[in-house]
This record gives sequence, C-alpha cells and structure tokens, in this order.
Amino acid sequence: MIFDTHAHYYDDAFDADRDALLSTLPEKGVALVVCPGCDLESSRQSMALAERYDYLYFAAGFHPENLEGVALSQLDQVKALCAHQKCVAVGEIGLDYYWVKTPEDRANSRDFFDAQLSLAEELDLPAIVHDRDAHKDCLDMVRAHPNARGVFHCYSGSLEDAKVLVDRGWMLSFTGNITFHNARRAPEIIRWLPMDRIMLETDAPYMAPEPYRGRRCDSTLIPLMAQTVAQLKGLTTEEVLNITLENGKRFFAIQ
Ligand SMILES: [Zn+2]
Repeated sequence: MIFDTHAHYYDDAFDADRDALLSTLPEKGVALVVCPGCDLESSRQSMALAERYDYLYFAAGFHPENLEGVALSQLDQVKALCAHQKCVAVGEIGLDYYWVKTPEDRANSRDFFDAQLSLAEELDLPAIVHDRDAHKDCLDMVRAHPNARGVFHCYSGSLEDAKVLVDRGWMLSFTGNITFHNARRAPEIIRWLPMDRIMLETDAPYMAPEPYRGRRCDSTLIPLMAQTVAQLKGLTTEEVLNITLENGKRFFAIQ
C-alpha cells in the first residue's frame, strides 16, 4: 500500500481529470496522500479535496515562491486552516534561493519560514519544508526552532546536513528524482538513512520517476521510488512501501 506524502492535486495539470483520477487511486493501491498548499488559495483547495476523499489529508502554508503581496498577518488564516481535523502539517514552507533572488525577498522569505515554524511548534504540528539552494539557512532555521519537527521534502542537501536533521528527529522524503540516472547525492544518503526516517512522495504533478521522467506524475508511481530505495537498502519493494506507509502515519499522526 502506497503513502504519497506530498502531492499537489489542486494543480492545473489535474484540471481535466482530477476527480476521475482521485476517485480511482485507492483501487490502484494508494492508501494515503498528503496534499500541501503553497498559499491560502491552494491550501483551501487542498482542504476541499481532503473533505471529498477519505484517504487524502492536507497541509496549509505559504511556499517561499508565493509571498508576493502577502503580509505576515495572513498567517492567522493559515492557523485557522490548521484547525481543520484533516490538516496534518504546516506546509509547504521553507526557502528557495533558486527562484527568490534579491536580498530583500530572501530576507522576507526567512521571516515567513521563521513565523511558520513557530506556528507549527505552537500547534504541535509537523512542518513540510522546501529547501532549494538554501541548505545553510534552512538548517540554521531548524536549529533556531529546537521544538519544531518536520520533514525536508525532495531532499537535496548533503549527507552531513542529513545527519544533523536526523539527530534532531527530522524526517527526509524523496521524489522520483532518486530514480534519475544522474542522481548524485541521494544514493549515499539513502544507504545511510535509518529506515524509520524516510518517506516517499511524488511532488505531483512534477518529478515523475524513470521511465516517466518529464511526464505528469501521480501517486501510483510511488512503487518506482520504493524500488530504488529497496535496491539501496537490500529490502523488497513491498517492505519499503510498508515501512514508509507506517513512517508517514506516525509522522502525520494518521490512524
Ligand atoms: Zn511541493
């Protein structure tokens, strides 16, 4: 059974067949999905999907690329969404220095990351963290929030940073990019990573695994990521799917 811990099913890429797809995922082996928002609108759309599909849960938050014209006071509305019984995390939040370029915008994104990690601590919810080209500042932010817990999604940092996060009780999750032939760091990190700290995700509609690279991704492709992890860990694909399902349920406190 599959737990896709990170899929953006509100995305336009699913407009043509969203309900046709989502209504058939359980019969294709998908047990659970978490759909993280990137701003208020997509967090609300994620909530609406969670209300429609039993197996789907959601997270609310502001992604670092979605902060234009947003005031910190709007985090009150994120907080309100987090009170929903199917909201299992604050996310996705974090830093993206690939897309966010100016010193002012980067400083603003750090303020939002800081405030949303505080919110996660206050609500005792895990955080779903996006870190692109901002490893040092993301790690500093984690260190500044010793009571926060969470996952670095689509993990792209070093083994050294992974050790710091795992020491602090954090999880790492991986997308289809671990199946790419040019995956560099992921294999050594996965070989080292304790099996109770790993989760799988699609980041749908992006990051489809080989041999579907470049196409629209959905949760049914998770076994391809599990197969890569299984090869690195000397386990079966089935064992990896079961372990990552249990890890996700424990992490997001889903019964
Ligand atoms: Zn995402």
